[in-house]
Amino acid sequence: MTQEETQMANDSTQSADLKKCIGCAKELPRTEFWKGRGNSLQGRCKKCHVEFRKQYGFKRKPKERKPHGFKALEDETQKEIIELINGGELSKNKIAQKFNIHPQTFYYWCRKGTIH
Ligand SMILES: [Zn+2]
Repeated sequence: MTQEETQMANDSTQSADLKKCIGCAKELPRTEFWKGRGNSLQGRCKKCHVEFRKQYGFKRKPKERKPHGFKALEDETQKEIIELINGGELSKNKIAQKFNIHPQTFYYWCRKGTIH
């Protein structure tokens, strides 16, 4: 057998009825794969594809939430506020004013325990 022939033989074994899944690495019948783009089959078998889609879906769904409320403030500001609260010298109202925060928002943060 020439090299070319060997290559061709290999190719035909690969394109025979079994295909290796990139997910579970099992050699599976081609019917266990869905078609991807064009005529090529998906790299993952149906089972892995479903799993993959599930995981992917879970990862994608929760949009990255921007920090908001107290946590959205500059680190330094957060520290200062905490120090002021702990210091107990200024009322919450005054602290809120000092940092240009709406007092009600500020109370809400305190109640929710977001300030710590
Ligand atoms: Zn698989």
